[in-house]
Amino acid sequence: MQKPRSNALPVLAVDLGSTKILTALISSTGKVIAKNHTYTLANMGAKSVINRMLNAIDCLLNQEDIRPPQLDSISIAAAGSIDMKLGVVTISPQIPGWHNIPLKKVVQEKFGIRTYLINDASAAVLSEHQLGSGMGIDNLIYITVSTGIGSGIIVNGEICFGANGSAGELGHMTISTMGPACNCGNIGCLQTLASGTALVEDATKRITRGDCSSLRNFTENGSKKITAEQIEIAARSGDSLSKEVILKAATYLGIGMVNLIHIFNPEMIIIGGGLSNMGDLLLDPARQIIKERAHTLSGEAVRIVISKLMGDAGIFGAAIFARSQCNGQGVLYESS
Ligand SMILES: [Zn+2]
Repeated sequence: MQKPRSNALPVLAVDLGSTKILTALISSTGKVIAKNHTYTLANMGAKSVINRMLNAIDCLLNQEDIRPPQLDSISIAAAGSIDMKLGVVTISPQIPGWHNIPLKKVVQEKFGIRTYLINDASAAVLSEHQLGSGMGIDNLIYITVSTGIGSGIIVNGEICFGANGSAGELGHMTISTMGPACNCGNIGCLQTLASGTALVEDATKRITRGDCSSLRNFTENGSKKITAEQIEIAARSGDSLSKEVILKAATYLGIGMVNLIHIFNPEMIIIGGGLSNMGDLLLDPARQIIKERAHTLSGEAVRIVISKLMGDAGIFGAAIFARSQCNGQGVLYESS
């Protein structure tokens, strides 16, 4: 067991996503001292992703000339279903082969320092609650809509982790019983219908079957792939196919939110992740679905807003989580 720490030491926060790995040194006052990013290259497999993350931590320490004992802790916000008691990512469907990875132990053993592990959307809801769009809101849900979909939930001012720490897997809520197969093994998950990956797959399928679209320029010669950003740009330029695929995804996202509204009766739902850059193009149709389908009492109580912290929500949340574990009271997931 490490000695009691000085709260003045910085936390090295990591946001491990399926596209990017962010690392940051965050001071005890919440100031970002340094921040780097690298690409996850998820298709290279679990071992490669772990090594890329360890190298990213090493890089930041070397860059800032800091040794691990000069840190308060390392805190990782990771995509996927996480067993917080064991510090294990049990499954992360967007990273091939990512099953039962003891991430906390791997990092703790390499750097010899107290390490924490939290789901990335749970981290994001913590940071939005303390620093972002959700300040002062005690019934709050954060939804990340990116390559995948996840959520973090705060009820009566307290984060909801569930029995193991894997609550909030909104991306794997079944929306269509006849829906597409999901990487998690289920079918018709929200993630297969409303994520950035789903948008790209839907647009590509329509273009391949011969539908007209300005996006066709990106798929000719088989050398280029459409991206969600290109779909957004095309939609804003009037491309009908792009507008249709965004409307379809937004409709499913709205249905997912109606389910959450009926269960949790939140005051606010914050949308983050890459697709939140679409703003009202994505949110207005989702808001319309909520208006049409949610019960009046709970539907009228909720505001749907964009994340204030955007790409930094995960690293701030990881640091906040680490600080919450060392306050000497109610320590939930102490490293040993
Ligand atoms: Zn799924």
